[in-house]
Amino acid sequence: MTQKRNIVVKIGSALLANQEMLTPRYGFLQRLLEDVANLRAQGNDVILCSSGSVALGLRIIGETPESAGISDKQAAAACGMPLLLNAYKQVGHEFGFEIAQVLLTLGDFEDHRRFLNTRNTVHRLLEANVMPIVNENDTITTEEIRVGDNDRLAAKVAQMVGATDLIILTGVDGLYDRNPDDPEAKFIPEVTEVAPFMAATKGKSTLGTGGMETKLQAANMAQEAGVTTWIAQGEVDRPLSTVLDGSRRATKVLPHPNPLSGWDSWIANRLQMAGSLVVAEAVADALAEGKRPIRRGDIISMDGDFTRGDVLHIYDSKGIERARGLSDFTSEELRVLTHNPDTEAEQLLGYKTRGEIVRSNNLVLLETRHLLWDAPETINEL
Ligand code: GLU
Repeated sequence: MTQKRNIVVKIGSALLANQEMLTPRYGFLQRLLEDVANLRAQGNDVILCSSGSVALGLRIIGETPESAGISDKQAAAACGMPLLLNAYKQVGHEFGFEIAQVLLTLGDFEDHRRFLNTRNTVHRLLEANVMPIVNENDTITTEEIRVGDNDRLAAKVAQMVGATDLIILTGVDGLYDRNPDDPEAKFIPEVTEVAPFMAATKGKSTLGTGGMETKLQAANMAQEAGVTTWIAQGEVDRPLSTVLDGSRRATKVLPHPNPLSGWDSWIANRLQMAGSLVVAEAVADALAEGKRPIRRGDIISMDGDFTRGDVLHIYDSKGIERARGLSDFTSEELRVLTHNPDTEAEQLLGYKTRGEIVRSNNLVLLETRHLLWDAPETINEL
């Protein structure tokens, strides 16, 4: 490997926690961190996105993966996190490097200022030669403010730090065109478009939160940010370098040839949107032809409570999401503007404005290859 890589590695709970005992699997950690140490010694940056806190904490609070409800899992995460990080710390020292914990919530990605701050901290750790270990702060996150699974969390981290590679280590050796238990199932070595595989990959793992579906969603986010995703079995020696040097089987999801810029990628890859606009078909088509702003007269209907700077879904009149963009107005202002189309904006709002609801440089068109798993199901009329 000659080119320096910036590698984000997602490690599933089943690799880290013994299924029966729910204790740390030191053998796996040793194989993993030995490989991490080699990659680091070759000048690469490595960031781990590690699951396992819930699985490792369950025994401490007297629960099992089957019995635990949400608040049990939140408590288990609080118990398991120090256990997990302690295991990483000990094994990291065996291989001569330091680790640090970075606990994130959805807001750290969705709020642009927090996003930049988090990114700076991760870069500062890398600069100090410390390996960041990221996880979601499950103890304090509720359903509304969580990413929810570490596959997509890892993709968001990869996008945030401008990674070259995202390696998702799991219990299977990659993607199959149907359930891998089916003898007819065919292994897929390389993927350009993830959408055709989504239907074949429903179903979840027992210890973690994700399944192949969330891995493909993660790969889709990563490819739009120009990151190569690898989905591979973690249970081997040199689990990372054998993927990167192509010496063992893994599924490679290719990056988009024209990745989005950091800013556009931040706008497009939101998990939570504050609201939505519906624009006429002709407006949506014009947007697709060349960047233009969304103006007051373009809006047919809107939904949601949002403030200036929130990201909105932009639909055409057939209900197809065509773009995402940052609103220059609050939802209240926008309602006043759209309900009174013939009155000057200045008169309605009390200040001067060019009347651009979403400026063209704050607008990202969604190509058909962008998966819309995060779009709301219904849109209310104005
Ligand atoms: N954050 C969870 C944990 O540390 C795991 C989520 C997942 O596996 O996707 O246990």
